[in-house]
Amino acid sequence: MTLDVKSILTRARVMDNYSYLLIDEKTKLSAIIDPSEVAPIVKVCNDLSIKPDYVLNTHHHFDHTDGNLELKKLYNLKIVGAEDRIPGIDIKVKDGETWALGESIAHIIDVSAHTQGHILWYFKDDKMLFTGDTLFNLCIGGLFEGTPQEMFEALKKIKLLPDDVSFYPGHEYTMHGVEDALRYNPSKELLEYVKNAELRLSKGLPVHPTKLGIEKKVNPYLQANTLEEFTRT
Ligand code: ZN
Ligand code: FE
Repeated sequence: MTLDVKSILTRARVMDNYSYLLIDEKTKLSAIIDPSEVAPIVKVCNDLSIKPDYVLNTHHHFDHTDGNLELKKLYNLKIVGAEDRIPGIDIKVKDGETWALGESIAHIIDVSAHTQGHILWYFKDDKMLFTGDTLFNLCIGGLFEGTPQEMFEALKKIKLLPDDVSFYPGHEYTMHGVEDALRYNPSKELLEYVKNAELRLSKGLPVHPTKLGIEKKVNPYLQANTLEEFTRT
């Protein structure tokens, strides 16, 4: 493991976004994923005496990019994303490419559906996947610029990733997903998952990181095996 990650809750109680601070342990290069709100991010950076070198975006929505320009000004950092709608974009990446934060290598996976140009940041060797508004705990993002077919294909790509990869979602939406998940398949695993989620949230902890192997079993949108089944969830 060469990558350290800190979860930062932003827009707390309004949209409950998660931004993330990534630190490559060997080179100390660092990046912010989806800076929704500047103040909580700057606080964490100050506490750790870190000057982030990059912003990495999953998609263009304001609640994932609102901090881009201010952080760029504050830290003179570079902004990395997949498309021109990302404010202040400096470096463009696309599906199938890799991008390096020091010695930590991210694989770029296009999952256009929630929006077009939505990407996943997959740090394969570190077994970390940043899913933005595509995959949340127990639910998925809405279809703003895509079709159910596109979302089904996007989730298929996630399902192909190894079970021991941990995912880091763009929002704390776990409790929004509980009811549908229970209706879809009230398995023993799901009941345990919900109990654990409630416990973590009651302590002020995020529900993530969750292993994909577990999420594949309890998230109704990952359990659907055909497009027909998927559109029924
Ligand atoms: Zn979004
Ligand atoms: Fe969002």
